[in-house]
Amino acid sequence: MKKNYLGFALAAVVTFAACQAIFNKDKADVIDSTGSAAAAVVKPRMFDSVKAPEVTRVVRRDSNLRYVYLTFDDGPDAGTLNCYNVCQNKGVRATFFLVGEHADYRHGRNILETMRKDMRHFIFANHSYSHANNRYEQFYRQEEKALRDFMRFHDSMQFSYPIARFPGNPAWVMEDHKIRTSKLTKPLTKLMDSIGYNVMGWDVEWNFDKSSRPVQSAEQMARQIMNAFESNSSFVKNHVVLLTHDRMFREPNYRDSLAKMITILQSKKGVVFETADQYPLIKKNDRTLLAVRQ
Ligand SMILES: [Zn+2]
Repeated sequence: MKKNYLGFALAAVVTFAACQAIFNKDKADVIDSTGSAAAAVVKPRMFDSVKAPEVTRVVRRDSNLRYVYLTFDDGPDAGTLNCYNVCQNKGVRATFFLVGEHADYRHGRNILETMRKDMRHFIFANHSYSHANNRYEQFYRQEEKALRDFMRFHDSMQFSYPIARFPGNPAWVMEDHKIRTSKLTKPLTKLMDSIGYNVMGWDVEWNFDKSSRPVQSAEQMARQIMNAFESNSSFVKNHVVLLTHDRMFREPNYRDSLAKMITILQSKKGVVFETADQYPLIKKNDRTLLAVRQ
């Protein structure tokens, strides 16, 4: 384990130094893939407080397989442990995009500590500190403030990966500055890219109603995912990212619905579940950071 931490520390120092090089200049020009410049006027502390997460796997990707990335947003909340337990029982991997404010509220930290006791199949990722206070337009129009909000999460959740999901917005920022975003979130995607962060959107969503209950049945949801594979409509072929929210599964019958959807998918030939850090387009630098897990 010491060796792992040493490896991680070296990777973190290199990454941190690179970030410092960018942020030591006030209003440094950050060039993106399109060749345009974005003014970076903030100096976030990057990667200096990240600790090595607890799991490492080297995944040999198989082109005959179909990968499902099960992602749960907005936790920790009343549904989080249900999601965790279902995935544990089914033996599937999943990613929790957490909200820092929720972790700091009531029993949030206790929930996360419970989950951290066995993180072989799970990772935590960054869904911002404030969830934009659910005022998305205002949040994304102030990209430097928004970046600080993500960094506040990053600093407070020391076991999170440098993978973010934007609140209420399916933006993507991946390796080789591969960006897919709306006009509104473009300035923030560039800033996230410049500091080496990944941003993950989603291909398919399990919707919820006004009471945060799932709209689609387990069967419908499994069919939607299989359709995304068959129609090749996902961001990356044979890799489908499913967006769900922890709170949708807080009641026993909906918790069972989650389990049922997983069972259906497990019965399909070649379908496997993976965590977001194993997604094909995750930045190589971050792979180095992640590769120290054992
Ligand atoms: Zn959210």
